Amino acid sequence: MTAPAACPPPAAGPVVFRAACPHCRENFELAAGALRLAIGASARTTFYTFTCPECGEAVRKPAGERIVELLTGGGVRTMRLHGAAPGDR
Ligand SMILES: [Zn+2]
Repeated sequence: MTAPAACPPPAAGPVVFRAACPHCRENFELAAGALRLAIGASARTTFYTFTCPECGEAVRKPAGERIVELLTGGGVRTMRLHGAAPGDR
């Protein structure tokens, strides 16, 4: 019936997301404004990015459907990538 999600209800205050850095292996919490979500044409091109507050590395991780729902529901900025995006490095 109801999905067991640990997602706080929207508009109830600042939402934070737990994230881990693959570079320094630090765990931390990030506000929605610190994350960015990019939705591509397929799951392979759908990912979220953030800058590690510990080591400053730019981190990019794949985002599954659940993560996309969590992030968009939490107010994370979303970019929609279209098929032809030659601007991306
Ligand atoms: Zn780090």
